[in-house]
Parts: sequence; structure tokens; C-alpha cells
Amino acid sequence: MSSTTYDPEELLRLKTVRELIRIFPRVVKLIWHVSPLTVCALMFVSSITALVSPAVIWMTKVVVDRVVASLGLPIDWAFLMIPVGVILAIWIGNAVIGSLSGLLSEVLSEHVYTAASEKLISKSATLDIAYFEAPKFYDQLKQANDNKWQVESVLWSVMSLFQQALSLTAMIGLLSILHPLAVLVLVGTVLPRIFLEAHMSRRRFQLESEMSRNWRMTYYQDSLLTERENVKEIRIFGLVETFKSRYLETREKYIQAWLSLLKRFLKWEMSLESLSMMGVSAVSIYAVIQAASGEITIGTLTLVFNSSQQITSLLTSIIGQAGSTYQTCLESSRFFEVLDLDPATISGSLAPKRTETPLEAPSQLQSGIELKNVSFSYPGNDEVILKDVSFFIPARAKVALVGKNGAGKTTLIKLLARFYDPTSGSIELDSHDYRDYDLESLQTSMSVVFQDFARYDISAADNIGIGDVEHVENRERIVVAAERGGAAEAINGLPQGYDTILGRTLDEGVDLSGGEWQHLSIARAFMSNADTVIFDEPTAALDALRERELYERITRLSEDKTVIFISHRFSTVRMADLIVVIDDGRAVEVGSHEELIAQQGAYQLMFETQAQRYR
Ligand code: ADP
Repeated sequence: MSSTTYDPEELLRLKTVRELIRIFPRVVKLIWHVSPLTVCALMFVSSITALVSPAVIWMTKVVVDRVVASLGLPIDWAFLMIPVGVILAIWIGNAVIGSLSGLLSEVLSEHVYTAASEKLISKSATLDIAYFEAPKFYDQLKQANDNKWQVESVLWSVMSLFQQALSLTAMIGLLSILHPLAVLVLVGTVLPRIFLEAHMSRRRFQLESEMSRNWRMTYYQDSLLTERENVKEIRIFGLVETFKSRYLETREKYIQAWLSLLKRFLKWEMSLESLSMMGVSAVSIYAVIQAASGEITIGTLTLVFNSSQQITSLLTSIIGQAGSTYQTCLESSRFFEVLDLDPATISGSLAPKRTETPLEAPSQLQSGIELKNVSFSYPGNDEVILKDVSFFIPARAKVALVGKNGAGKTTLIKLLARFYDPTSGSIELDSHDYRDYDLESLQTSMSVVFQDFARYDISAADNIGIGDVEHVENRERIVVAAERGGAAEAINGLPQGYDTILGRTLDEGVDLSGGEWQHLSIARAFMSNADTVIFDEPTAALDALRERELYERITRLSEDKTVIFISHRFSTVRMADLIVVIDDGRAVEVGSHEELIAQQGAYQLMFETQAQRYR
């Protein structure tokens, strides 16, 4: 499988037919893998179905000719009725096969959709956080996600093309009975459609790609107005009308773009339709003259009428089908593009493994974590967020990061959790560069609770237990983690205790207060065996006293762990063994509360300012 470089402009590039043909074997492989037997059965059915129309047209000619031959003679029932019976049998057979194949393809569709989703989810899991912070990648992932159901359509589109081509060949055979030139006239009047169709499907696809941002916007605006996280604030600020009109505006832009495209194509469609009708008329007039002069039978005349109309509609449909196959291939190529993405090619991706045998992160930190002249800019953004940051976090220390909003504290935590590598400088864990460690083992040796931690609408016990999925059933450990995170009290007060389903997704779900959710997320962090636990201010919803109590408890119960936390409350911060003051991306002061107060610098100023408010 080839690797693709992440290139935002690639999103709008139209692929050549050759590039698209390469997708086909991959589609077949994916679907074949799901159920080879069903694929074979469907291909067989599709070949049989292709011959139904030509067979019926031929049998109709036979019926008409036999009726004409019997005029004025005694009725020979067998002679007349056998071809009628054959037509009926073909119809019934076709209907039965049609329903069976419909059922088979529906079941297959569901399985293929699952297989495609599974591939996309697995791929997303291998991509660095940097991908998810790049808006264009979101577009790409969204397109891949939206188009994953197209993957199997590629196979059906190609099969339908094959089926119609088979029908067409048989029809052409039938019409050549009249005159080979008749076929040429029909084909000649339909072919110009190819150009229109090719142009139309390219434009349609381009419009979809250009509109992908518009789509994302409408989803977002829609969610603002309909999802429960936002509904309270939207009501309080009276924003319904504002966001509704923005939503309608975005939708209107989309509709207008489509409309102008369709209008542009309408006159061409109408002209080409008239041209093909002229072709059919010419052939029909010729056939009537031939029949009147006794050159062909009445049965053949009906055959010409039927088959010439069929040839025109089959040709038109094949051209349309080729266009939509092209479009389907283009759309499903989005899916394969994401599968082919090479995780190392986006700016901001983590450095590749430096050795074949990376180190396993120690189960317990020995000396500590050291930041050495760490500087950092977010990918695609020149602004330097962290500037030459150096300090040492001793093993088992309780460390507080303080500083104004936007100073770079969360960014520092993202680097500590190795979501990103420093742009320059390095981070060392027990004197080995972060990049020397196996990423998964490094990341599982840490547990991070973010401000925007997840709230899972599952049981309270599972909300904590998934902090270490292998032990999600271990109630004893869950209870200990709940105690450590200060969530035990709230859980014991729930109707079914630890087994209470939380959130609003399910009818029986019970919602928690912001502070209770925070305690739960902290408990989840304690469920894991992570030796280093990092809190990116998940305690904002707690009052100062509760926050202090929580960290006191954490300190008491986690003597064996390294704890790093962000807080704005100095009553909490002062408990830390080590305080790092971050100001405009620099670690300006590092030391204990007493040391920093004695320095009479930025920390002392912030501390005094807050203390005065409480006096
Ligand atoms: P703090 O946690 O101290 O409030 P952050 O680390 O969140 O500060 O942010 C520091 C700076 O980095 C801010 O100017 C913010 O706008 C910028 N920033 C944060 N996340 C990103 C991102 N994903 N891409 C670009 N800039 C970012």
C-alpha cells in the first residue's frame, strides 16, 4: 500500500481515470474479504438480469409474428401461447431473482460499511494529535467518513455498467436485423452526452469538495442549536435567532451553489435529449417504411421500436452510470487517501522511532522528568508558544504550574504527555530522551485529565473503570480510585450507586453536576497504574475549598506518584513541593512556595493579589 503525504491542496485535485481505476482492486478486495460467496452470487445474478430485456423483446417479436401468421386460420393454442408463457416465466424469474439479490446486497452493504468504518477508526487511532488540530485534516477525515459507504457503491456501479453493457450488446444484435446503419444513427445521436456527463460529474465533485467546509459549518451551527451542552447558554444570551440565521445563510450558500451548477447544465441536457429523440424517430420511420413495403415482418417492426428505444435509454444510462461511477470512485478515493496517510508526513507529527528497540517507560519514575531548553510552536503557526523552558520535575514530586491564561501551561502539558515533540530542545525521562521510549508505553505511564475531559454516558463504575479497561470489572480498584479522586461520596448518593447510568443519552441516565463530573474524571485518572498523573485544571468547577481538599487528598493518597497540576488558586498551589511560574511561554520562576515568596517576583505578586481579595 502506498503512503500519501498530507497535502491540503490534494483535497481539491481531481484524480485521473487511471488513478481511479487503481482503486477498483482495493474495493473488490475489501468487499470480497467480507463475503466472497455473496459477491459471486450477485455477479451471476447481474449477468442473468442483463439478458432479460433483450429476451422479452425477442419473444414479443415471436408472439406478434405468430399472431399475424395465424390470422384467418384455426387457432393453434400451443403455437400462440408458448412464447407468451416464456415471456411470463422470464418476468417471474426476474422478479424472484431481483428480490433475492436485493436482500443479499443489503446484508452485504451493512457488513461492508462496518468493515470500512473499522478500517477508518483503526487508521485514525494511529494518527498523531497534530492531525486533529489541523482543520484541513478534519475536512479530509470528514469526507472519508461521509464517503465510506461509497466504497461498496464502486463495485455495484461497475457491475451495473457491465450489466447494462451486456444488455446493450444484445439489443444492438437485435436491431442489426433492420440495418447495421440504424445502430450507428442511434449511437451517434447519444454519444455527445459523454462529454456533458464527464464535465458534470467533475463539477459536482469539485463543488462537494469546495463545500466541505460549508458542511462542517452547518453541522456545527446545527449542533449549537440542538445539543444540550449548548442549549442553556444559547437561550440565556438569546442567541437562537442569531445562530439560526447564520445556519440558514450557510445552507442558502450551499443551495445557491448547487442551483447555479444545475442551471448551467439544464440547457445542454435538453438539447442532447432532443438529439437522441431525433435518432430514435429516424430509425422508427425507416422501419415503418420497410414494414409497409414488406421488407420486414410486423414482429420485426415491434422489435425495432422496442430495441431502438432501449438502445437509446441504455446508452444514456451507461453514460450517466459511467459518470456516476467516476464520481463514486472519486468520493471513495477520499476514504483510501486517509487509509494511505503516512502518520509522519504532517508538520507537527511526532519524530519517528529513533531505534528499532525503543525503551519501555519505567513502571516507576526513578529520578524524574527534565525539560531542557524546550521551545515549541504549533504546526502551521509561526508563533513561538514555549520559549527555552528548562526545569526538573523530581520523581514523586507534587508540581504546580501557574500563570496567566494563554501563558502556555496546557501546551506544556501536551508536550509532557508527548502529543507533540518540542520544536527545539528536549524532554528527558530518567535521563533518556522522550523520543527513545516506546510511545504507547510512555503515554500509558502517564494519566492526564484535561479541562475538556470526556463525560461518558455509561455507568459510574465504568466511567472510572475505563481508566484501565483491563480492570473495568474490578470493583475494588474502582472504589479506591473513586476515593482518591473524591468521587466516592457523590457516587454513593446515586440511586444505584456505582451501577447508576450517567448522562442523558439513556432514559434512565442521571446527570451529575459539573464538579461531580470533574471528580469522576480525576478518579478515572487514578484507576490506571500511571505513575505520573497530570491535571490540566479539571477542578475549575470546584470552589477553592473543595479544590484544596481534593489536592490534599491526592497528595496524601498518591505519595508514590508524580503529580503535576495547573491551578489558579494559590491556596492549592502553595501545597505543591515545586511551583513553576509560566509567563508568556517562559518558565520564569521555579521553586517551593516559600522560596518563591522570598524571591519577591512574579509569584509573590500573584499570590499577594489573590490573598488581598480574600482579606
Ligand atoms: P494556558 O494553558 O496557559 O492558558 P495554552 O497553552 O492553552 O495556555 O495556550 C498558549 C497559547 O497557545 C495561546 O496563545 C493559544 O492561543 C495557543 N494555542 C493553543 N492551542 C493551539 C493550537 N492547537 N494551535 C495553535 N495555537 C494554539
